[in-house]
Amino acid sequence: MNILLFGPNGSGKGTQGSLLKDRFHLAHIESGAIFREHISGGTELGKKAKEYMDRGDLVPDEITIPMVLETLKEKGKNGWLLDGFPRNMVQARKLWEAMQNEGMPLDYVVEIHLGRETAKNRIMGRRLCVQDNNHPNNIYIDAIKPAGDLCRVCQGKLVTRADDQDEAAINKRHDIYYDTVNGTLAAAYFFKDLASKGLTKYIELDGAGDINTVKEALIARLG
Ligand code: AMP
Repeated sequence: MNILLFGPNGSGKGTQGSLLKDRFHLAHIESGAIFREHISGGTELGKKAKEYMDRGDLVPDEITIPMVLETLKEKGKNGWLLDGFPRNMVQARKLWEAMQNEGMPLDYVVEIHLGRETAKNRIMGRRLCVQDNNHPNNIYIDAIKPAGDLCRVCQGKLVTRADDQDEAAINKRHDIYYDTVNGTLAAAYFFKDLASKGLTKYIELDGAGDINTVKEALIARLG
């Protein structure tokens, strides 16, 4: 099964993604996480990507598109969940083109809806576990509040991402997401249009509920 996941930064997309990954045994391919691995590994790609990420800008397509498409081919043979990509129309078209060339089906496209203010608060409360990127912690969400200063799952050390604490950068990321002409919602609607032609299935979810409510709604729709 191959699934594309859309939602504004802060909508719980990463959390729902890791639940889906476990349930359907999918490779969870998260473009932001791949960039962060490159940064912590000190690679050339990481150095180039960091300046864009710190500002809340998109990393240029000529870096991002080949990186994600290669990861899909390498790790996605038995099904994938793509999260954080595509983020604009060029990426959407290139992804669809590559999938058609590879004969890869697109089973579902999931879009999580969430208001901009709520999304911003959730981002600023987010904490990352240094042991495991898939351990959700957020100081503003009761269900996933850290254990004191430590990860609620493994008691690992928690850190914040520089771009999570910078309000101007968050606004910039949301401007990109909510842009229905060239931005991420435009990319989502590209796939919604394909769904209207019967080429994939498009699922819309209300992301305002707690993690389990959103998860159950999602699982019910996946059938
Ligand atoms: P995320 O973890 O999804 O919030 O991504 C963190 C940052 O990585 C973004 O703000 C961008 O700078 C960069 N990034 C992640 N995915 C993409 C993408 N598909 N295209 C361009 N830049 C991206």
